[in-house]
Amino acid sequence: MTQTTAQTWLTRIRELALPRPIRLMNVCGGHERSISFSGIRGALPPGIEIIPGPGCPVCVCPEEDLYDAIRLSLEEDIVLVAFGDMLRVPVNVPKGEPRSLEQARAAGADVRAIASPQEAAAIARAEPGKPVVFFVAGFETTTAPVAAMLAEGVPDNLLILLAARLTWPAVAMLLDSGEAAFDALIAPGHVATVMGPEEWSFVIDRHRMPAAIAGFTPESLLAATYSVLRQAIEGKPFLDNCYPELVRPGGNPTARRWLNEVMQVEDANWRGIGIIPDSGFTPRPAWQHLDARRVFPAPEGARRRAGEMPPGCDCAAVVLGKIYPDQCRLYGRACTPRSPIGPCMVSDEGACRIWWSSGLRE
Ligand code: SF4
Repeated sequence: MTQTTAQTWLTRIRELALPRPIRLMNVCGGHERSISFSGIRGALPPGIEIIPGPGCPVCVCPEEDLYDAIRLSLEEDIVLVAFGDMLRVPVNVPKGEPRSLEQARAAGADVRAIASPQEAAAIARAEPGKPVVFFVAGFETTTAPVAAMLAEGVPDNLLILLAARLTWPAVAMLLDSGEAAFDALIAPGHVATVMGPEEWSFVIDRHRMPAAIAGFTPESLLAATYSVLRQAIEGKPFLDNCYPELVRPGGNPTARRWLNEVMQVEDANWRGIGIIPDSGFTPRPAWQHLDARRVFPAPEGARRRAGEMPPGCDCAAVVLGKIYPDQCRLYGRACTPRSPIGPCMVSDEGACRIWWSSGLRE
């Protein structure tokens, strides 16, 4: 079977007669990275915009969870492990206090960057006399391996501090609000690989909005772009699977079984956005003895639910697709990857970081 090239998809897109300008939203840091680095935006004809949406779990990790992680890291004997981009995410604290895990480490905390859940377990085995707290901010694709690890058994001293979120409720919240600034959705291929494409059917069923699931190559993203544009022109929305090589009906049954066995879903706070119903994973009762929040509860008076982005930071508007990263007043001025103000400039999945790294600098 011959593969349709990116150039062919672009030609097909340019041949479409759009009745009006159309805005597409992607909700995946990997998609945004591929779109930005391959120059897809600049190659599309006028009238087609692709806006980055809620695709970065680190960016929406609530301040209270970051406070908890910093607080625990500063406890004597605790080893705090997290994926690397969590270490530099800043929070609002009074002058003199560590404003990130990286600063806590500089103040003497044992904070270590890891690349996989297995590394967290290995550190716990190597440090049997210390509690090792694994701070996890991620979507379904990150949470499923953590659930599998817990289900298969972890060292007694490994605890988890979860800030795990589901992707689709943020899109549902945007669409239900009536303030969605997009006309079609490019749904995340990796999430659909785990959870199944059916999770995104509500976009069509409830909102009659064109949608297509895309992989991470420019070809797959352009195929999804072409699909949703055709759907919009013909007025016949349906959920197109443009990533059939990995996305199958029902998703990955093993990963879903782990998630379902170990995690429950509840309302959750998204930084700068607020509570989104049924959007967060927490451990089921059988695994709550591994929940760092329960083992080391926050003391009375600890900072809770601040919920704000740093002053002047427009991350919440960027995450919700209401503005482009370079429309933030701080973008490239006070806020750069070297000196980030907000989480969207820290994380590899943050739109501001991706735009800056790919050369989108006004
Ligand atoms: Fe926040 Fe910096 Fe992005 Fe502005 S450029 S929204 S301050 S992360």
